[in-house]
Amino acid sequence: MNWRVYKEELIHTGKELVDLGLVAATWGNISIRLPKNQGVLITPSGMDYYNINPEDLVVLDLQGKVLEGERKPSSEKLLHLTIYRHRPDVQAVVHTHSPYATAYAVVRKPIPALVEDLAQIVGGDVDVALYASPGTQELADHAVNALAGKMGVLLANHGVIGVGRDITEALRVCQLIEKTAQIGIMAKMLGEPVLLSDNEKRIMRQAYLFHYGQKEEK
Ligand code: 13P
Ligand code: ZN
Repeated sequence: MNWRVYKEELIHTGKELVDLGLVAATWGNISIRLPKNQGVLITPSGMDYYNINPEDLVVLDLQGKVLEGERKPSSEKLLHLTIYRHRPDVQAVVHTHSPYATAYAVVRKPIPALVEDLAQIVGGDVDVALYASPGTQELADHAVNALAGKMGVLLANHGVIGVGRDITEALRVCQLIEKTAQIGIMAKMLGEPVLLSDNEKRIMRQAYLFHYGQKEEK
């Protein structure tokens, strides 16, 4: 199968990760669920995002068997596959090592949903998964537990996971998590941040899902 459009989207998103400063060098990884669960398209391990070509991408089935590709897939393939198996709503996963968000992950404190865009797109605070070594099934299980029904989670002493209904949304989740982490740290320097109530965060999430943007008003 040729999956050309999906491969182009994945390669484009990789370059955006670098341009947005969400990863350094070759770290982080991205995947897309192919239609009808025919496989998961994932970045190769340790390759420069600006040098990845369509034939470098790997297609795995949900159990991790290689269906297409010669390269070694991302060392976080278990993390991606476990998320897809547990969250049928998720069509794309982006993993970054962005610095402000990772600072929260290092002190193992959740990033509070302090502002509208984050509350809308993540669906609440960004929690921290229990620590496990990179690339392990344990890391994947902890991440899925802490992610729960939300769209973003922190990996302790490691980085960020953003998921989405498509690759654009998963990337936006990572971008807004990083932006909110910056705001949180700067706000703390100015004073004590005022937190949004759970009810207000719920209202914002609903507004994003059902009204935000060019959706038809009912
Ligand atoms: P890969 O380059 O193998 O995808 O791994 C990078 C990374 O972020 C590991 O956690
Ligand atoms: Zn990583």
